[in-house]
Amino acid sequence: MFKPEIIEKFRQIPTPFYYYDLDVLNVTIGRSVLEAGRYGYQLHYALKANSNPKILKSISSAGFGADCVSGNEVQAAIENGFPASQVMFAGVGKTDHELRLALQYGIESINVESIQEMEVINELASGMGVKARVSLRIIPNVDAHTHRHITTGLEENKFGILPWQFDAVLEKLRSLHRLELQGLHFHIGSQITDLGVFKSLCERVNEINAWFTEQGYLADIINVGGGLGVDYSEPDKCSIPDFESYFRVFSDLIELEGRQKLHFEPGRAIVAQCGSLITRVLFVKEAVNTRFAIIDAGMNDLIRPALYQSYHKIENLTSKGEKRKYDVVGPVCESADCFGKAVSLPETKRGDLVAIRSAGAYGQTMASRYNLRDLAGEVYSDEI
Ligand SMILES: *Cc1c(COP(=O)(O)O)cnc(C)c1O
Repeated sequence: MFKPEIIEKFRQIPTPFYYYDLDVLNVTIGRSVLEAGRYGYQLHYALKANSNPKILKSISSAGFGADCVSGNEVQAAIENGFPASQVMFAGVGKTDHELRLALQYGIESINVESIQEMEVINELASGMGVKARVSLRIIPNVDAHTHRHITTGLEENKFGILPWQFDAVLEKLRSLHRLELQGLHFHIGSQITDLGVFKSLCERVNEINAWFTEQGYLADIINVGGGLGVDYSEPDKCSIPDFESYFRVFSDLIELEGRQKLHFEPGRAIVAQCGSLITRVLFVKEAVNTRFAIIDAGMNDLIRPALYQSYHKIENLTSKGEKRKYDVVGPVCESADCFGKAVSLPETKRGDLVAIRSAGAYGQTMASRYNLRDLAGEVYSDEI
């Protein structure tokens, strides 16, 4: 919901642009910290959801650690206030350069995804004369019941180490003297809205954690990843994810040993609802059985609908006309460049402002310059 004075200000700004409501962001951060704090849980923000410096600074100053998936994300996390001692680095294909950077900074943990990667890290750490703290990224074989492109915890996914490899992994660890096992890491997917999925995750984590403990490897950190979903259909009514129920599932079911700490890596849940993509209608075109509202934002600005068939609420901010149905499409030369079919909007004309809601996560960070289009900039609520 945008106040009339904000919409007036939007009229002066060249479109498309991302608008970030810092009040929504800060309330969301505050609530997540409060609910996690009840149980002493550690939060690491997943930078890939949104890595704008201003957003990173708000999150780091609330005491979050960082979850990174590239060397540049490790660098950005540290530059924007996350202490290196609370930075994790995951990813199935890390380059030697990225691994050296992580070792130089002495980050909290490198999440290793294969035996070969363990050998490479050991060799790099040895060359640098340092120890490497590592966590094992484990595939728990829990189905996240989400879009197949954002499912990561199944045997057929490329991520992590499979349970039948555990014996070989431990044998390797005993021979690699530069590696210190710090944690067990699980991340099964994104936009998970069924809390039952996290219950299944807890059960698998308990079994796997017990097995490692029996083998004499008590990991300090049990990291259950991110994945908590947001409500894309009700961005105003449900702007804050249900952190309370989410953390309660873990508090009820997870069995920790001794000094073990539970870590979470939310990305989407923290930033999705604070962002909207603001765009202008270029043309309205009648077609067979449909009517197109052609806007000046494209799939290069926000790829989620084209890539994951995901739903975003679309609002016309400047018309009060009678409701009609529109296919809301962008200008990019791909038929997948469509933000919504048969969207009910008040009568829409050239020049109207349209907001594509819940675009704060995996929006700007996934933008490209396809068709040589300019990248959309960002505007923050405290700047206009
Ligand atoms: C992407 C990612 C996350 C964040 O996932 P969300 O669904 O945005 O919460 C957390 N951990 C890892 C390892 C990731 O790759």
